Amino acid sequence: METVTTVREMKARSRAWRRHGLSVGLVPTMGFLHRGHGSLVERSVRENGRTAVSVFVNPAQFGPGEDLESYPRDPARDSAYLKSLGVNVLFMPEPSEMYPPGFATAVEAPELGEALCGASRPGHFRGVCTVVLKLLNAASPDRAYFGLKDAQQFFILRRMARDLDLDASLVPCETVREADGLAMSSRNSYLTPEERAVAPLLRKALLAAEDYLIGGGRDPAEACGIVGGMLSGESRFVPDYVEAVATSDLKPVSEVSSEILLAAAVRLGRARLIDNVIFDPSGPSRKPRGGAGC
Ligand code: AMP
Repeated sequence: METVTTVREMKARSRAWRRHGLSVGLVPTMGFLHRGHGSLVERSVRENGRTAVSVFVNPAQFGPGEDLESYPRDPARDSAYLKSLGVNVLFMPEPSEMYPPGFATAVEAPELGEALCGASRPGHFRGVCTVVLKLLNAASPDRAYFGLKDAQQFFILRRMARDLDLDASLVPCETVREADGLAMSSRNSYLTPEERAVAPLLRKALLAAEDYLIGGGRDPAEACGIVGGMLSGESRFVPDYVEAVATSDLKPVSEVSSEILLAAAVRLGRARLIDNVIFDPSGPSRKPRGGAGC
């Protein structure tokens, strides 16, 4: 595995791969990697002749007072992990490489980017879209891999790819979880042992709402109420939002008649946890889980 730090070098590697007829996969990350990231990387390695992984803590997607400075970092461990997964290039640019002096352009996703997480993190998705477009330009992948833990991010990027006629296919990947159901996240490292012990309640609450939907419930307010009711049982949770929106436009739905994203965010100590279920009433029928498994 080679580590490159400039856009120029990343472009040169990608061009050389293409000249040799090799397909290219890209996995954008902010590092402090865990098995969730690993699942995206493994898939890219399986599906492409060459895989590049970017590790870049993108200042543009952090708001004032957010955790940019304290965001966990461990480049040596990340590098060893990616090497073990068969990655070809680790792209690790400095902020000054991605945003040189005079940088003055951004990609906006006004409507989709203001829903859900966008409401409490203004400008976040502008930062995400801008950096992902730059990373796609640097690596020119055939496929780029994103996790559905950040479902809103995926739906916004998918829209960006369509609207801006990008060549890459954006591939959604299932959320990888701890044994107790908590979605893996670099920010879980902020949790104290006591907070970590109650964190899986977010997943349990979403699964209870999913069981309601699988059982034929079609009232989004009721589904959100199930989640909110369960979250209110843990005083350490400070709910940010619980919402049911259409996956097509991220607008709230009054009835569950097509695919919805039921998403929730809570603050728990220093961490902000997000999780979701995607439910399609016309999709293959699934059995209610009956209980709080994962
Ligand atoms: P991050 O480093 O948190 O920006 O995440 C980089 C990519 O990994 C994003 O596409 C995330 O959605 C994805 N990702 C993060 N956590 C998970 C997880 N637990 N399961 C699957 N994908 C994940």
